[in-house]
Amino acid sequence: MADSKRDYYEVLGVEKTASDDEIKKAFRRLAKKYHPDANPDNKKEAEAKFKEVNEAYEVLSDKQKRATYDQFGHSGAQGFGGQNGYYSYSTSGFDGFDGFDIDLDDIVSSIFGGGRSRRSSRTSNGPAKGADLRQDIEITFEDSYLGVRKQINIYRDEVCDVCHGSGAKPGSKIDTCSMCGGTGQIRQVQTTLFGQMQTSRTCTACGGTGKIIRETCENCRGKGKVRKQARINVSIPAGIDDGQTVVLRGEGAPGQNGGPKGDLYIVVHIKHHPLYVRKDDHVLCDIPVTVTQATLGAELEIPMVDGSKERFKIPEGTQTGTKFKIKQKGFSSINRNTRGDFIFTVIVQTPKRLSKEQRELFEKLAKTMNEQPPVRRKGIFG
Ligand SMILES: [Zn+2]
Ligand SMILES: [Zn+2]
Repeated sequence: MADSKRDYYEVLGVEKTASDDEIKKAFRRLAKKYHPDANPDNKKEAEAKFKEVNEAYEVLSDKQKRATYDQFGHSGAQGFGGQNGYYSYSTSGFDGFDGFDIDLDDIVSSIFGGGRSRRSSRTSNGPAKGADLRQDIEITFEDSYLGVRKQINIYRDEVCDVCHGSGAKPGSKIDTCSMCGGTGQIRQVQTTLFGQMQTSRTCTACGGTGKIIRETCENCRGKGKVRKQARINVSIPAGIDDGQTVVLRGEGAPGQNGGPKGDLYIVVHIKHHPLYVRKDDHVLCDIPVTVTQATLGAELEIPMVDGSKERFKIPEGTQTGTKFKIKQKGFSSINRNTRGDFIFTVIVQTPKRLSKEQRELFEKLAKTMNEQPPVRRKGIFG
C-alpha cells in the first residue's frame, strides 16, 4: 500500500524545498479544485484526489511530520516495529463525505484554523485531537545497528479514570450552560456600516464546554485529566540514524471532548562508539596492522558491529590508509530494501619497541633496501 502512494510533494506540485507558504497556497488551490462539491460529474474521483491532497498537506504543513516524512518517506515510519501498529502518519480527517453536508468554506476555514466563524459554534466544543508529545532517547551504536526494543517512562496527561474526563464528581449533576445554551459560544449581532454582522466568542461562563459542573471530581479537581507516569514500549528499527524520529500514534496527550489522542514523537540519539563511525548506511572503522602484515599480506580478523568476526585477506604490499569493503555488512536502510557496507581502513603501525632479534632482522632488511624512497607528488607511496 505504502509503495503505491504518490510522493506528497508531487501531490501538491511543490518542490522539496517549498516554504510553508508555498505549501499552503498549493493546498488551497488544489483543495478548491478537487472538492467533491465542485466536481458533481465525477465526485468519486475528485473525492479521492481531495483526500490525497489533504493527507499530503496534513504532513507537509506540520514541521515535525514533514521532517519525519523527509527522512522515512511513506513506508519508513509505518514499517517499523509494527507490534502495536502505531507508526504512521496521520491520515485521519476526511474519511468520507457521505452523510455530511460540508461546504468548502467550512473545510478551508477549519483547516486553516480561522477565517470564518460562521459555524464555529459547532466545532468549538466538539472533539479535538490531543497535543503531540516529544521524548528524546539515547541508544548505543550497536542497538542502532541491530534495532532494539526500549521501555521509556514519560509523564503525560491521561483521562481521569474516576470521572472519565467529564471533570464532574461521579453521580453529580452536569447542567447545560444557560449562558450559551450548551453551544459554548455566545453570538452577538452588531450593526456596522455594512449592515448586520454576526460574530461569536467563547462563552466565559462555561469556558466553551457548554456544560456547568455542579460538583467537581476530586481525583482530577475538575480538569478531567491527571498527570501520570506511563511506561511505553518502543521498537527502534535497525538502521535508525542519529536524530531520526519514531512516531507512536495515539500515545500523546488525550483529546478534548472525545477527540483522538495526540502522537508521541521519539527522537533517537546515538552514542559515540570508540571503534565505529557511521557514514550514510556504511560503517567505517580503522584496523591496525603490523609492518610485516602489510608487507607480506595477511588474513585479518575484523570485528563486526554485531559482535561477530569476519576473516578478510589483505594483499601483499598493502599501504597504510588503504580502504577495504565488506559488502552488505553496514546498516540496513530504513527507507529502502538495501544495506550499506562495512568499510575499514588499514593503518600500518610502525613498531616502537623491538626485541634484539627483531632489531637485527630489521637492520639486515635495511641493508637490502634503498635508502629513502623518492618523494612523489601524490603521497610518499605514489
Ligand atoms: Zn476526574
Ligand atoms: Zn456556556
